[in-house]
Amino acid sequence: MKTALPRPATLGEKVAGRANGAQLGAALAAVGTRILGQFLPFAETPVLVLVAPNIAKAEADLVPVRERLARNRQRTESGAVSDPKSLQALLEEIDHLVRRIDNLEELQLDAMERLEAAQGMLGEATASKTAVEDQLRVVLRAREGKLGVLGAERDQLAAEREALVATLPAELLELYGKVAEKSGGQGAALLRQGRCGGCQLEATSSDLARYREASADEVLRCEECNRILVRTAESGL
Ligand SMILES: [Zn+2]
Repeated sequence: MKTALPRPATLGEKVAGRANGAQLGAALAAVGTRILGQFLPFAETPVLVLVAPNIAKAEADLVPVRERLARNRQRTESGAVSDPKSLQALLEEIDHLVRRIDNLEELQLDAMERLEAAQGMLGEATASKTAVEDQLRVVLRAREGKLGVLGAERDQLAAEREALVATLPAELLELYGKVAEKSGGQGAALLRQGRCGGCQLEATSSDLARYREASADEVLRCEECNRILVRTAESGL
């Protein structure tokens, strides 16, 4: 006798409704390469979900159940069981096996979806990492460029300084060096409107009178900070 029996939807049919072939392929490939878990970098507390073993376990659990279902169906469809009670028991067991397969396949599908989600997050994390690395490369290139410009500027200033130093008396250079060492690198300052450009303090009227009377080649010093004072048309003398 032939009996119309319910046939469980295959896993492939179930998955087709929720995931495309490529996604499923990726999930299965991950299982194939024995990925045992996925790190969830964007979870509130980063967690490692063990996904692939669930898929593998569900598949392993399915094998004997499917085999038993196939055997029972074969027995039923072959007409070998004629006793109505035995046939009824067999059909009930078939129903039970179909439901069991359905449950196991649901578990397997759930595990696959979690694996896909974890792979999606891994993809996002990888993309973020790549984006940050790209930005870093841009910043580093800009830094190289700026360093090049600053280096050229420094070289030019050093050349100008060297040319200037060659025109100055050795005694004045020595004094400049000593004052600069004690004054944060600046050994001389412009005297502007009676004020020292180094310490920004105003010279007293008696100091200004002395500066005024000093000869053009006399080296003047700020009374406050000791820097060499350079007179100009704007010195206020
Ligand atoms: Zn000063």
